[in-house]
Amino acid sequence: MKPTSLKRFLFWCPRCNIPLLARQCSCGETGRELPLLQPYDVRPVLAHDRELIIALLRERFGTDTIPRIVLFNKTGGLDRNDLIIANGRRFGWLSFDPCTRKYALDISFEALDALAPSARSGIIDITEIMDRSGGRRLGGKRIQVDTDVPDGCVILRAGHLWGIGHLSGGSVRVRKLGPLNATAYPDPAWEDAVQQNRRHLKNLERHAIRFIRQHTRGQKRVNVSFSGGKDSTVVLELAQRAGIEEAYFVNTGLEFPETLEYVRSRGIQEVRCNADFWHAVRLRGLPAKDDRWCCELLKLEPAKQWLESRGPCITVQGNRAYESFARANLPAVAPNPHFPGQVNISPILTWRALEVFLYIWWRHLPCNPLYEEGFERVGCWICPAMLESELERTRELHPDLISRWIEVVHAWAESRRLDEDIVTCGIWRWKNPPPKIRELAKEHGIELPDNMHKKTKKNR
Ligand code: SF4
Ligand SMILES: [Zn+2]
Repeated sequence: MKPTSLKRFLFWCPRCNIPLLARQCSCGETGRELPLLQPYDVRPVLAHDRELIIALLRERFGTDTIPRIVLFNKTGGLDRNDLIIANGRRFGWLSFDPCTRKYALDISFEALDALAPSARSGIIDITEIMDRSGGRRLGGKRIQVDTDVPDGCVILRAGHLWGIGHLSGGSVRVRKLGPLNATAYPDPAWEDAVQQNRRHLKNLERHAIRFIRQHTRGQKRVNVSFSGGKDSTVVLELAQRAGIEEAYFVNTGLEFPETLEYVRSRGIQEVRCNADFWHAVRLRGLPAKDDRWCCELLKLEPAKQWLESRGPCITVQGNRAYESFARANLPAVAPNPHFPGQVNISPILTWRALEVFLYIWWRHLPCNPLYEEGFERVGCWICPAMLESELERTRELHPDLISRWIEVVHAWAESRRLDEDIVTCGIWRWKNPPPKIRELAKEHGIELPDNMHKKTKKNR
């Protein structure tokens, strides 16, 4: 099967100041290309994340000037690491440090057009230093400064120029200096973006419905696998428009209350998992990002039993190639290796999260509220694949749920005499931590045994 070809850039209408799903805007303007970063997924910044960016901007720069349409392009990193896109340009980076448990906001030079006029703090004036340098280029240079601004990202003033730098230990590394662009950007709302992309959304819908019909025509049993997430929300809508009525949701027993409430509000058939996860943890140890045995136990097996009782079927599911590096080469049609009687079809394989949300808003579909609460993906609340930033958010929203799990993880670490920071920094989530996580452990002096998940005699 030919690998999915991924779009590596985003189109942006300079006149409407909105993201476009294809090159042409309804206003007649041709979109500008904005290169994206791997895995090239872009999504709207929703309520909680918007508040987070605003709070960080206020704290650092004394301003909260961001447009209504802001996007994230998720990228790899130690934990959450999102490129922020605003006004069709790179606005900055939002990242979460799994050890300090703090967010950091780094702004880019392109953000200054919007931010500099209203910024009140986090500013260092290097005009004198620049004058003394006699016109020597300061970009990329580290210069000593006398300031009481705390370390971190800073805005620089140098005569009529503005710039961005990084301050640490009394010196600032100048990233870029230059004149501001006096462009005044319109500030449309997301409804405007939906409106201007209507034609593209209609096309996406038409193709997806055609794909579903093509692969389900004449089939006796067709259903939708519904996870409670945004992708399956879209797929459910598309499948219903293609005439499919049956949908099922596997309740792992570890679902967020918001997810259960949402699924039930949609009237989806619930397949309950009868396995005892907590007992399985005592027998098998913790699930890990690179050993998700829980998926087989809590999702695949209950689904298989339910499907077997009903016979072979075609299942419409919400897989997307942009979700992760691992999903980039997923085929659009594939038999379920766990239950060969089921053939999975993925009508939104080539949609990015942006297409998904614009479609949800266009069709006024109800959606799981967890996205507005700062979650990028929705799964079990103990999921080792969850970001530490999401675990922190779960702690805020559902302290009772998460404390039970954290106790289990602490007890696991204690029984292995592991450094406590393996838990606090979220390193327990890997059986074999990748090099960047090993590096993080080294930086923090965390002792990392070769096989920390290996069963000990006591735990056998
Ligand atoms: S969502 Fe996460 S915790 Fe839940 S079954 Fe899948 S891997 Fe395990
Ligand atoms: Zn336009």
